[in-house]
Amino acid sequence: MEVPFWNKEIETLDRARLRGIQTERLKQIISWALKTPLYNKRLNQAGIHSENDIKDIEDLTRLAFTTKDDLRKNFPRGLLAVDMKDIIRVHSSSGTTGIPTVIYFTGDDIENWTDLLARSIVATGATSEDIFQNMMTYGLFTGGLGLHYGAERVGMMVIPIGGGNTKRQIQVMKDFQTTTLHITPSYMLHIHSKLEQEGVSLSDLSLRKGFLGAEPHSENTRLKIEELLNIHAYNSYGLSELNGPGVAFECVYRKDMHVWEDGYIVEIIDPVTGELKEEGEQGEVVLTNLIRRGTPILRYRTRDLAFLHPEGCECGRTHRRLSRILGRTDDMLIINGVNVFPSQIEEKIMKIPEVATNYQIYVDKKGQLDRLTVRVEIYPKLFLGDVSNLEALRVKIKEELKSSIVINPVVELHEPGSLPVSEGKAKRVLDERPKD
Ligand code: ADP
Ligand code: ZN
Repeated sequence: MEVPFWNKEIETLDRARLRGIQTERLKQIISWALKTPLYNKRLNQAGIHSENDIKDIEDLTRLAFTTKDDLRKNFPRGLLAVDMKDIIRVHSSSGTTGIPTVIYFTGDDIENWTDLLARSIVATGATSEDIFQNMMTYGLFTGGLGLHYGAERVGMMVIPIGGGNTKRQIQVMKDFQTTTLHITPSYMLHIHSKLEQEGVSLSDLSLRKGFLGAEPHSENTRLKIEELLNIHAYNSYGLSELNGPGVAFECVYRKDMHVWEDGYIVEIIDPVTGELKEEGEQGEVVLTNLIRRGTPILRYRTRDLAFLHPEGCECGRTHRRLSRILGRTDDMLIINGVNVFPSQIEEKIMKIPEVATNYQIYVDKKGQLDRLTVRVEIYPKLFLGDVSNLEALRVKIKEELKSSIVINPVVELHEPGSLPVSEGKAKRVLDERPKD
C-alpha cells in the first residue's frame, strides 16, 4: 500500500528524538501555564517553579491531573495564559455532560492545530483532488471548523455544509460528487437509510472516504458503514479541551489511531486509583497539549477509555496508536450491580445482518430491579415478514447480548425510521430510573 505523508520527517521520527521534542515543548508549555492562576499554584505545589525544573517528560507525572471540573470552576478566563488581544478564536465543548468548557486560541495555536489536521487528512490517503463535505456542526463546537481548516490546507475543495438537513446533504453529495465526508457514525448510518427514499443510489455518488468522529462506535459499526456505503471509514478522535479533532487519526491501514505525539503527551491511567497503566493496558486517556499557548492544558483527564498499542504501525509512523474509545467512564451503566458499557451492546447488535441502522438503549425500573431494554430497527422486508421469523431474530439478538453483557435484556424490534435520530452526536441511552 502506498503510504502518504504530510510531514514524513516528523511522522517517522525515532522515538528518542520525538521524546526530545516533547520535552522541549513541555518546557515551553509549562512556562506559559505558570501564567495562569490554576497552574501556577499546582505547578508550584509539585515543585515546578519554572520550565528549568523540567528535565524530561516524566517530570510531568509530579503534577496533579486536570479535570473538567477544574475547567468549569475557572470559567470563563481562569486558564487564559496570554493577553486577550492575542486571542483570535474561542471554542467550547458541546456540553454533552454539563456546563461547557472554554478554550482560547492564538494565531499560532490555530496554525499548529491546522497542521495536525492536514497531517491527519493526508494520512488517510485523501488529497487536494478530493471533494470534502464537512457534515460536522460548525460554530463553537470544534468538529466543524477544525477539519475545515485542515482540509483547506491540504487543498481539498471544502463544502462547509455543517450538520443536519439530510435531504440537502444527499443532494449536495450528488451535485458536487463529494468523495470524502466528515460525519458522526450515527448520522452516517442515518444518511444511508435515507438514500433510497431520496431516489439516490450509490452509483449516482462518488463517495470514497468517511472521517468518523465525535462519538464512540464499535469496529462492527465501522464495518457496517464501509459495507453499506462502499467507502473506507477512518476513525478520528479529539476533544475540545485538547483543540478538537486531530488528536489522533487513523492512517491508510485503518488499524487504530496515531496520536500525534509531537503535539500531545498521552498517558493511560487507572480511572479509580489514578496510577499509570502499563503500555497495552486499558484505562482512562490523559492528555497534555504541547501546542497551544492561549489555554495551556496539562494532564487532562478525558474520561475516555482506551489503550495504546505497544507495537508500531505498518505505515512506518512512530507515533503510537490509540485503540477505539470503548466509552466514557461516565457512560457506564450499572444494571442490577453489573457494569455495562453502551459500546458492548452496539458491538454485538451491529454485526447482526438483519439489524438496520439505528438503535436505542432504554433503562427503567420494574419493581426493585433495573430493566435494560434494547430497541433495534430492522430492515423493512424483515419487519413485514413471518412472525415466527421475527421472534427467532429477537431471541438471537437477546442471546448475543446476553453472552457479552451477562444480564438478560429485553429486546424490541422496531420498524426502520421509528426510533429517534440524531444529526450530530447520538444520544443512544435513555435512563429513566429515578435518581436518588
Ligand atoms: P463534550 O464533552 O461536550 O461532548 P467535545 O465536543 O469536545 O465535548 O467531545 C469530545 C468527546 O467526544 C471525547 O472526549 C470523546 O468522548 C468523544 N469522541 C470524540 N471523538 C471520538 C471517537 N473517534 N471515538 C469515540 N469517542 C469520541
Ligand atoms: Zn499507521
